[in-house]
Amino acid sequence: MPKYDYDLFVIGAGSGGVRAARIAASYGAKVAVAEEYRVGGTCVIRGCVPKKLLVYASHFAEEFEEAAGFGWTVGETSFDWKTLVANKDKEIDRLNGIYIRNLQNAGVEIIESRATLADAHTVLLAGTGKKVTAERILIAVGATPFLPDLPGIEHAITSNEAFHLEELPRRVVVVGGGYIAVEFTGIFNGLGAATTQLYRGPLFMRGFDDDLRALLAEEMTKKGVDLRMNADIAAIEKKGGELCLTLANGDVVKTDIVMYATGRVPNTKGLGLESVGVKLGKSGEIVVDGYSQSSVPGIYAVGDVTDRANLTPVAIREGHAFADTVYGGRDVKVDHSIIPTAVFSQPELGTVGLTEADARARDPEIDIYKTAFRAMKSTLSGSQERSFMKLVVDAKTDKVLGVHLMGPASGELIQAIGIAVTMGATKAQFDATIAVHPTAAEELVTLRDKWQPPAQQAAD
Ligand code: NDP
Repeated sequence: MPKYDYDLFVIGAGSGGVRAARIAASYGAKVAVAEEYRVGGTCVIRGCVPKKLLVYASHFAEEFEEAAGFGWTVGETSFDWKTLVANKDKEIDRLNGIYIRNLQNAGVEIIESRATLADAHTVLLAGTGKKVTAERILIAVGATPFLPDLPGIEHAITSNEAFHLEELPRRVVVVGGGYIAVEFTGIFNGLGAATTQLYRGPLFMRGFDDDLRALLAEEMTKKGVDLRMNADIAAIEKKGGELCLTLANGDVVKTDIVMYATGRVPNTKGLGLESVGVKLGKSGEIVVDGYSQSSVPGIYAVGDVTDRANLTPVAIREGHAFADTVYGGRDVKVDHSIIPTAVFSQPELGTVGLTEADARARDPEIDIYKTAFRAMKSTLSGSQERSFMKLVVDAKTDKVLGVHLMGPASGELIQAIGIAVTMGATKAQFDATIAVHPTAAEELVTLRDKWQPPAQQAAD
């Protein structure tokens, strides 16, 4: 008789949990995964994937306009939100099915239930009240939107609900200045809603390179977003059919929808972690070591619940590394030091490595190469959108420490550039690479003049 019901019990069938379950099973482990909502997790069901579909949809209005410069006459256009949502839902159902099949084909048992810890080797299934045991437990329950506590906050929605709105609102206010806020601001604005974005600090997208932050703000404003910095909501009131937002400075903004994108918190409440002795950090995240092991041997955690780098590909990598290490007999640690990432704002951002400010704080001897330009397509389309590219280079070693992009396909570009930066490429190696012409990306290998601060330029 085996000592436990399962070798591995995974709580949460999102990106990290599914990958860990599948790979562990492929090494011969007996694995079950419990999911209380839908297999696929935030990214597939109500995150990256549906978001990107909405981003695609929101680009069309601009593209119809730009077609004229290329000789096209586009007839009268109209947009139907319900069609978009229905088609998006169909695609999400398809992906959900694929995730389920992949788990089943790998021999993983799927249990549709909330699961909590009864002890270090026992899981309680809320659906049936049944208890099952496992040699190891992997927590991959992700995170959930955080809403600040203020009067009327119950009238606010989060991105979770934004995917299922009955109608496209006429007016939208988005609160926050991170990934989700800028992406949804772009979506609503592109689809034709009058869109306001409120950010509490002086400049949004904290943590990104300062040039990208400032330029993105300019470009979003040019596209018609009412972008307000140093703006925060003090209270929300529902009056008649509309919402009245009273800002901290006394201004009142009227809107149909207010969407908060003010960060996410690890989903650790009520899981029974504390009673088992699993150490949590100050945001409630599970504290893990380099192998994703918690403070309790046998209990592991991957993905957003650990609040390391809250990105799907990172969760997948952590889940895979866990399975390789524990069940595949390989010693695999995830390197979180260089993570390429894209923001599907409009315009799009791509970034990898150190920002100029971070690099300078580490060692002031850095060289900056940067360029801002209008993409070739804009010459005929008449678009005033600017693109931007920046390299942060270590002046001593010539190593490219960071690349920061804004413009069409920056997400695609940064994936490829991420390889070079991860490999430790030098600026000389960028320069030695033959350009691809005519592309925007060729700027990355043809930037020759070091940027100098304006005062120095004047002195030279
Ligand atoms: P972020 O952490 O990126 O941003 C949160 C924003 O909310 C910040 O601007 C923050 O301001 C602001 N904020 C926090 N608390 C308050 C408050 N009480 N009142 C007003 N503003 C507040 O979180 P998101 O929700 O945008 O995204 C969650 C995670 O999802 C991200 O960490 C990201 O990793 C991931 N994600 C990734 C995407 C991608 O890869 N393209 C897309 C979407 C999400 P301040 O800066 O001042 O603290």
